[in-house]
Amino acid sequence: MKMSRLRFNFGFLLEADFGTIRHIELDYPSIKLSDDLTLTPLKGVITATRTTEGIYIQGQLESAAVLECVRCLEETVVPLGFSIDELFFYPPQSAPPGENRVGEDGMIDLAPLARELSLLSMPTKVLCRPDCLGLCQECGANLNEGDCGCAEAAIDPRLSALQQLFNSESQDQ
Ligand SMILES: [Zn+2]
Ligand SMILES: [Zn+2]
Repeated sequence: MKMSRLRFNFGFLLEADFGTIRHIELDYPSIKLSDDLTLTPLKGVITATRTTEGIYIQGQLESAAVLECVRCLEETVVPLGFSIDELFFYPPQSAPPGENRVGEDGMIDLAPLARELSLLSMPTKVLCRPDCLGLCQECGANLNEGDCGCAEAAIDPRLSALQQLFNSESQDQ
């Protein structure tokens, strides 16, 4: 497995007095957090504090991800911002079940946490623009790029009166 680029050695901080603080600047033009998620870019400053329980990591990160619009399926850049606020227990055996821990070797890999936080900060419904017209259900054309002509052809003249009724009803709502 490839080494995570968000893996940091906190050995020096574990040896330091309680209350010692270090700032780490993150500035990645692009970083792959997992097979299904690449952030472009990932920027921000994290603050690592040696506490009696381990290492407390705080920070505010800015990023963006390329996601698929739910309507037209085109790729679109979605800005993301999320904050990290996590205690990593040390020694690792002192961590309650399910809590983060510093590795025996003094390493912390922030990639799983950054992945989880960025996924949580993503909009539940990704749209390339608020008024995206989506795809034509008949021919699959991207309606943002122009009218494909299916809408008119699909309506049987005998049904057009009914269609107008539907349209006026939906406008009343
Ligand atoms: Zn779209
Ligand atoms: Zn069409």
